[in-house]
Amino acid sequence: MKLISAGAAETVTGSCHLLEINGLKVLIDCGLFQGGKKVEAKNYEDFPFNASEIDIVLLTHGHLDHIGRLPILLKSGYSGDILATNSTNHIAEVILKDSAKIQQEDYKRNIRKAQRKGKEGKIKDPLYTLDDIPAVLSSLKRIEFNENINLGNKVVAKFRPSGHILGSAFIEIDSPEGKIIFSGDLGNYESSLQADAKPPNEADIVVIETTYGNRNHRSMEATEAEFRELLEQAIKNQGTIMIPSFALERTQVILHQILKQQQAGRIGKLPIFLDSPMATKFTKLYQACANEFIEPIKLELQKGIDPFEPNVLEYTVTAEQSKAINHMKGLTIIIAGSGMMSGGRITHHLKHNLWRKNACLIVVGYQASGSLGRLLVDGRKKVKIHGETITVNAEIKTIGGFSAHADKDDLLKWISSTGNAKAYLVHGEPKVMKHFKQSLNSRGRQAEIVKWGREYQLNQ
Ligand SMILES: [Zn+2]
Repeated sequence: MKLISAGAAETVTGSCHLLEINGLKVLIDCGLFQGGKKVEAKNYEDFPFNASEIDIVLLTHGHLDHIGRLPILLKSGYSGDILATNSTNHIAEVILKDSAKIQQEDYKRNIRKAQRKGKEGKIKDPLYTLDDIPAVLSSLKRIEFNENINLGNKVVAKFRPSGHILGSAFIEIDSPEGKIIFSGDLGNYESSLQADAKPPNEADIVVIETTYGNRNHRSMEATEAEFRELLEQAIKNQGTIMIPSFALERTQVILHQILKQQQAGRIGKLPIFLDSPMATKFTKLYQACANEFIEPIKLELQKGIDPFEPNVLEYTVTAEQSKAINHMKGLTIIIAGSGMMSGGRITHHLKHNLWRKNACLIVVGYQASGSLGRLLVDGRKKVKIHGETITVNAEIKTIGGFSAHADKDDLLKWISSTGNAKAYLVHGEPKVMKHFKQSLNSRGRQAEIVKWGREYQLNQ
């Protein structure tokens, strides 16, 4: 067995791992690098392997940092199947089309910028366009959770629930050469939607993510109480409550949390807007798949309650509908993309409301340095939005506990089921990985931090 990583090696994005097992070349995930120019430049580098030699691709889940380089893989010569769960198939279509659209828009904007500076000809082509997506979609094949999938050469793969987002899986691969497990992204064991990741079987090797390998999340009970108090306070102020949200999973968690507060009688009916076409698409998918979630959600469904539709939710589709929200007076909740507030419809709502003393911004996701969200969280009193300077009088509050990722204790619990499997650490910042490696070593386990492009002989 041999492993070569082409992403998520000493970083948290760009997941892409090539496994050579019993004469078969299997690629696990093919994600985009995200987060700043330096990291994103890696998307233009060649893969450290020959794409046309890969036999099959397996996807752990539909996040862009796990699937976003698939169009490049196909353009580099890959022509085989791409296996993923049913929900991941649906998610991949939305995510890849959106990614292509952003690539094209960024390219056009960069061209205009260069023309104004008189520096034409230096602009990189978009990584891919909408025309490249149909080929990926027709290579996608649906598989079932827990199904034994014969990949050829006596290599068998099994996708098992990982509790991270809808459709997410970790993958166990068995062969005469040995058994290896790829964790993909593991879920928060206290998620309000997803069941815990299934305990993996014993294996020889485990390739594990380490995003939060150095710390634990606040408990869900404390997080929910925090959210409730913020909503209650904001309702007293009778202003606009803005929740910038990531379209996939986090939006649905927030919608469900608002419904829970309404069911407990903490907050009454109030106008709630889901102002993100992409989040709306994913919410419809979550509604259609609600049976895949934890028991309380299934029970709600049996009672005829939609777990992702609080009272009174409105989906705003067109730009006109979105603008109309800003003419409303009094208390409203607006959930809008993008999550880090660097673009999207949330920026219009921020422009209209940040100067108001009775408005409230509730930040429920990670804010990368350099994003508008980070400036606001850091307490900036004036920010620029669409070229206009806006004074910040609104209350800015952060809630960190709604993460979709396993924390350190969750990771240690999950890996403890793999027996003596040697751990190869991926998908983490170097400092965090070092910490997690020490935690494994102190438990008598072997662990290695995976480096980009290096070849690892696994069965020695
Ligand atoms: Zn993920």
